[in-house]
Amino acid sequence: MSTFNAIDSYLEHHLEQSLSELKKYVAQPSVAAQGWGMDEAAHLVSLMLEGRGFDVEIMDTEGFPVVLGERKGRTDQTLLIYNHYDVQPPEPLDLWETPPFEPEERDGKLFGRGVSDDKGHLISRLFALDALLEEMGELPCNIKFIVEGEEEIGSVHLPDFIKKYKERLDADACIWEFGGVDYRDIPMLYLGLRGICYVELSVQTASQDVHSGTGGSIFPNAAWRLTWALASLKDKYENIQLPGFYDPILPPTERDRELMAALPPIIDEYKERYGVDHFLRGITNETELRVNAVFEPTCTICGLNSGYQGQGSKTVLPAKASAKVDFRLVPEQSPSQVLEQLRNHLDDRGFTDVEFEFLGGGPPARTDPDHPFVDLVVEASKGIYRSPMELVPMVGGSGPNHAFVHTLDLPVVTAGLSYPGTNAHAPNENIRLDLFLKHAKHMTRIITAFAEK
Ligand SMILES: [Zn+2]
Repeated sequence: MSTFNAIDSYLEHHLEQSLSELKKYVAQPSVAAQGWGMDEAAHLVSLMLEGRGFDVEIMDTEGFPVVLGERKGRTDQTLLIYNHYDVQPPEPLDLWETPPFEPEERDGKLFGRGVSDDKGHLISRLFALDALLEEMGELPCNIKFIVEGEEEIGSVHLPDFIKKYKERLDADACIWEFGGVDYRDIPMLYLGLRGICYVELSVQTASQDVHSGTGGSIFPNAAWRLTWALASLKDKYENIQLPGFYDPILPPTERDRELMAALPPIIDEYKERYGVDHFLRGITNETELRVNAVFEPTCTICGLNSGYQGQGSKTVLPAKASAKVDFRLVPEQSPSQVLEQLRNHLDDRGFTDVEFEFLGGGPPARTDPDHPFVDLVVEASKGIYRSPMELVPMVGGSGPNHAFVHTLDLPVVTAGLSYPGTNAHAPNENIRLDLFLKHAKHMTRIITAFAEK
């Protein structure tokens, strides 16, 4: 344990230095949605990695560049660390207490756009490497960084990039871009993400909108066509009607259920926070709700558009209607299957006039809760947090983890400095400095234990 005494003491004594590096990084805007500051931010990342003796390359994609860094270590194990340098737009600006790109420390926190998502994570990890290098003179194992610039706009080019540079990204395990503690201050380890298939359906029934008195009883109405088509996608018992939709699904295992049952209750919190008074399928049991929330696929109408939506009445028969719909997918569903099933379904039900466009998506992916790397990361958290990490087999959102799990064939594990009040994507985004330090300490343990594997 003496190694960690020295490492921890290094981290505790150099916190200010690391935070000033983080402030500099946060002060560099890098808003992917607005194309603001992207090359500068990628360059800054490359300088920070080079400063730690990494071989670095800024690689072009059809979108924003990806920064790759690599440094050899004492053993042959290779840890791949994924981060992103892009951030969400800072708007609405008037809700920030201090300007988003002028990071400020107050009340044991650091505020600024991207400080949590995801710049603080990268800097805390670099800080961990500083401590290891100082105490050991070299890295315990090989470390590779992949830092992309399009995470906040859907990681559009990342899966192809990873396919293309598969060999170069070869590793034994991957640390995900984020992680953090829950409201009890217990660190959570997320093992999987659902996939997503996002489409926009549209139908056009006439060349122009028509007086409803003229066409109401004799012309087809785009809004009715669309709502009938939408209504056919799911029955009132929440069963999605696409042919074969449920066939590829692997149901949650006993182990998944056991892990879900161990998570804290959520029903009252959801009722309070969202003002809902009941849940779909009549669920009242905490574990069932947890399991359904992430292991059931979805078909969600995200937006509807047709006809007159202004003040008062307008007697019009709309010629066009459209809807945005997302399908959240669970293992082993895939977006390409869903697109095919959707076309077949619409055609079978007589909606050949309803077209759709694929707006984006990716398959689900998860890491086995019993993978030894998962255990290693949990073990490494002991003594740092008030209790060791807890496992969450799956979360409801989606992300590019499938490229790491399926293309690179890596166990992917989350660990990080986020907390429930972090305000990611919102005004006054912030991190807690104590969690910044804890994450750095955790990373030193992860890397050291991983090197010995
Ligand atoms: Zn984000």
